[in-house]
Amino acid sequence: MARKKRNSLYISWKPAALAGVAMVLLGFVWIGAGRQRDAAYRKLLGDERIEVQQNTVPPDVRQWVSEGGVLGANSIDTFTLRMFPIMIRVPILMYHYVEYVKDKGDTIRKSLSLAPYTFEEEVKTLIGAGYTFMTNAELADALSGKITLPDKPIVLTFDDGYRDFYTDVYPILKKYHVKASAYIISGFLGYPNNMDASQVRQIADDGLVEIGAHTVNHAWLKGMNEKELVYEVDQCKKTLERLTGKPVVSFAYPYGVFDVPAIQALAEAGFTSAVSTIPGVDQYQTHRFFLYRLRPGGRTGESLLSWLEGIKNEQISYLKTGVKE
Ligand SMILES: [Zn+2]
Repeated sequence: MARKKRNSLYISWKPAALAGVAMVLLGFVWIGAGRQRDAAYRKLLGDERIEVQQNTVPPDVRQWVSEGGVLGANSIDTFTLRMFPIMIRVPILMYHYVEYVKDKGDTIRKSLSLAPYTFEEEVKTLIGAGYTFMTNAELADALSGKITLPDKPIVLTFDDGYRDFYTDVYPILKKYHVKASAYIISGFLGYPNNMDASQVRQIADDGLVEIGAHTVNHAWLKGMNEKELVYEVDQCKKTLERLTGKPVVSFAYPYGVFDVPAIQALAEAGFTSAVSTIPGVDQYQTHRFFLYRLRPGGRTGESLLSWLEGIKNEQISYLKTGVKE
């Protein structure tokens, strides 16, 4: 009887006490979640190396978004812009040939080429300066808030899938355990100058190198009719996915040339980012389909670092370089 009475008394104050405790706990959870979110933002934004301009979208980007932007999904982009940093500073370095050019008369190849020794020096410089190598798939995830950025992030990108990537670059990446993104022309697999299918599969397998798409035929996408455009984008993605058994989500525009239909085709095919050849280091969520890149040339050591750290984004010049033309 006494026990029952005590129980009933217990029951009578229990709801109030429980409600009180729940409110206090909820309060902690709420504050905790807020702090966690702030910490995540701070981690994403960084303290010094990443510039943040909350809610200050450059006028041309604002115009682009308001006119429908990518996908016509401008409301999502606008929402994302409010929730996440508009800009993160991530240099994306661009390479083509990395080899000792045998034909001294091949001036184009010489101008696009970097000696493997110099590339290795660049990698050593960046490691020594504390840079963290990531892939463009990871950068796209950071831009959309899915992952936090590593310290001093940097991306190495290699266009065209040349055979020297396999013979000269890949061994250096493996030696220093450095991540990179390689953009492959699916229709050129096995050409004398390009990697073959088994080489691409092999570099995709060990997980250091992200395989991205660079169209089927190294196509000039701007102004292309829709059928051809979709073929160049989708077929390249499918071929590389079948080959590697991994999702292919990153894209590089051949010749750096693109337009709004090209961006739409990429988004519809399931790509999460595309690199352009527009110079800059500040990457925007709204620019994930034309990320900026830099040409490091033969800089190594201090000259590479001071060049990298001194770069400011050119005030966005894409209106002149493709999107709206
Ligand atoms: Zn190319």
